[in-house]
Amino acid sequence: RKADLECRMLVLGSGPGGYTAAFRAADLGLDTVLVERYASLGGVCLNVGCIPSKALLHAAAVIDEAEHAGDYGVSFGKPTIDLAALRKYKEKVVGQLTKGLAGMAKQRKVRTVTGVGTFVSANELEVQGEAGTQLIRFEQCIIAAGSQAVKLGNFPWGDPRVMDSTDALELAEVPARLLVVGGGIIGLEMATVYRALGSEVTVVEFMDQLMPGADPDLVKPLADRLKKQGVAVHLKTKAAATEALKDGIKVSFESAEAGKAPALESGVYDRVLVAVGRAPNGAKIGADKAGVQVTERGFIPVDRQMRTNVPHIFAIGDLVGNPMLAHKATHEGKLAAEVAAGEKKEWVARVIPSVAYTDPEIAWVGVTEAEAKAKGLRVGVGKFPWAASGRAIGLGRTEGFTKLIFDEATHRIVGGGIVGVHAGDLIAEVALAIEMGCEVADIGHTIHPHPTLSESVGMAAEVFDGTITDLY
Ligand code: FAD
Repeated sequence: RKADLECRMLVLGSGPGGYTAAFRAADLGLDTVLVERYASLGGVCLNVGCIPSKALLHAAAVIDEAEHAGDYGVSFGKPTIDLAALRKYKEKVVGQLTKGLAGMAKQRKVRTVTGVGTFVSANELEVQGEAGTQLIRFEQCIIAAGSQAVKLGNFPWGDPRVMDSTDALELAEVPARLLVVGGGIIGLEMATVYRALGSEVTVVEFMDQLMPGADPDLVKPLADRLKKQGVAVHLKTKAAATEALKDGIKVSFESAEAGKAPALESGVYDRVLVAVGRAPNGAKIGADKAGVQVTERGFIPVDRQMRTNVPHIFAIGDLVGNPMLAHKATHEGKLAAEVAAGEKKEWVARVIPSVAYTDPEIAWVGVTEAEAKAKGLRVGVGKFPWAASGRAIGLGRTEGFTKLIFDEATHRIVGGGIVGVHAGDLIAEVALAIEMGCEVADIGHTIHPHPTLSESVGMAAEVFDGTITDLY
C-alpha cells in the first residue's frame, strides 16, 4: 500500500511532550509530521488541564482576596459572578496558547495531521480523520499520546451531573452541593475554584491525608484553610455506591479501614467530580502492531534516552510513567528529539518538582521527610515559618513555611517543600540547588532580595531544628 505522507520523524500526540518533541526535531533538521486527534494543539495541559485550571484558579484567588480585603480596610461587597464571561476568559487564555502553537508549527514547517492515529507496522501509522484515512510512513517516531481521567465504574457516567476534570473545567454551572472524590492535586484545585464560586464543597479521600505524596506538615495549612472556608474533608473514606436521583446524585461511603464505620454515611449532591487519577493511553494506539511493549496498566517502558524496545520508536510524557506532569513531558520530549537526531544525550535530571496550585499552594521537590524516614536516610531539616516573613505578614498570609531537607553527612540539599502563596514559583530555586549539588550554606550565602517570599528559602538554610545553623 502506498503511503499518503512520508517523513523522517512522526510525533503522535500534540500535548506538552509531543509539541516540544516535534518543534525540537524540526529545529534539528528532521522533516516532521505531528498527528493529533483534536483540531486544537496542546493536549490535555493546554486545552483541559494546567492552563484552563490556572485561569479559573486566578479568578478564585481574586474572589478570595476580595473576601479578605476587609481585613485591611477595603471592601468590595459580595462578588457577583458572570459565569459566561468567566468561561470566555478561560477560553481566551487557552485559545491564545493553542493558536500560538499552531503558528509555531507552521513556522517550523511541521506538518500537522488531524485524526486518530493507530500503528499498522513499525514504520507506518494510519490516521482516521474527517478527510478520510491516511497512511503515514516514518523513519522514526515519538509516541506522546498522554493519558486520560480514570472513570470509576460505580458512577453513572452518562449523567451530566457526574464529571471528570474536563467536565468540571467546562464550568456548566455552579452546583449548590459539589462532591469531589479524590483529594489529590486535581481534585483540590477544582474544589478551590468551585468553593470560591459559591459551591458547598465536600471532599472525600481514600488515604489518610490530602495530597498523598506530599509531607503531612506541608498539607496542614491547606487543610486548615479549607476547614475555615467550610469545605468538608473526609479522609480514609471511599465512595462505595451511587444512585442518580431526581434532585441529585446520592453517594454512599465506606471507611477505607475494614470493619470501621465511615465518617460520613451518605450524601446527595448536585454534581460529583471524580478525580481519582489518570490512566496512560499506551494500550489504545495499536502499539503491538509496531512491536512496542506496553505494560498491563498501559504504560510504555523506555530507557534513559526515552527509547522503547523498538530502537527507532521513542515514547514520552504521561504514558511512560509517573509523575504525570507537563514539565516532565516537555523535558522528555526535548530529550527524545535530540537523541533521535543523533545527539548523545540521556536523562540526567535528578528531580521533578510537584506543585498544587491550591490556596495556599503546596510545592515540593526531591526527597520528602516521609521518604527519608522510610528509606532510613540521615537528613537534617531547615524550616522557616512565614509568620516571621515581613512580606507574608504584609500579604496577610502567614500560614506558610519553607523547609529544606539536606543530607546530614554532606550538607547537600536533597529535597524541599514550601506551602504558602506563590509556593510554586519559589520551589524552582530548591530544584536548582539539588541539580547543582548545593550545600545548605550555598543557599544561606546567596543574597535574596528583601522583602520577598524568596527570602524564606535563604532563611530556611540558616535555621534548622530551631537553632541557627553552624554550617558556615
Ligand atoms: P497529553 O497532554 O495528554 O497529550 C496527548 C495528546 O495526544 C492529546 O492531545 C491527545 O488528544 C493526543 N492523542 C492521544 N491518542 C491519540 C491518537 N491515537 N491519535 C491522535 N492523537 C492522540 N501538569 C502540570 O505540570 N501542571 C499543572 O498545573 C497541571 N494541571 C493539570 C490539571 C488538570 C485538570 C489535568 C487533567 C492535568 C494537569 N496536569 C498538570 C497534567 C498535564 O496536563 C499532563 O502531565 C500533560 O498534559 C502530559 O503531556 P503529554 O504530552 O504526555 O500528553
